[in-house]
Amino acid sequence: MKTYRKELVFNTDTRIAFINITPQIDTCIKESKIKEGMILVNPMHITASVFINDDEHGLHNDFTKWLEHLAPHSPIKQYRHNDTGEDNADSHLKRQIMGREVVVAITDGALDLGTWEQIFYGEFDGQRRKRVLVKIIGE
Ligand code: ZN
Repeated sequence: MKTYRKELVFNTDTRIAFINITPQIDTCIKESKIKEGMILVNPMHITASVFINDDEHGLHNDFTKWLEHLAPHSPIKQYRHNDTGEDNADSHLKRQIMGREVVVAITDGALDLGTWEQIFYGEFDGQRRKRVLVKIIGE
């Protein structure tokens, strides 16, 4: 069995952002030379997500509006987590809803995704350096 590990780095211009990372994941699979196996992709931070959905601008606006409705950033004092001096309680909640990681099958050297499935990095407390782990196992 072969293994592959890589860290991708993101530093978004905005506090909340959705980035289609499918091309970078495709590159990782090519670098790994693994033809049949599984890939795990997860942020190494508790205020960001990796998830699979449609690469459609309106939907991303809908995600942002929905998440802000469920966990508004302000007023900051509404959250006990922010009693610690942090201001990112909403980011932790948004990440929890959007999920931590994705696991995808690799078949014939490529992501075995559904028709409209794309892999996204979801940032909820950006404007700083953050890492995403890519781990592939297979042969
Ligand atoms: Zn925090």
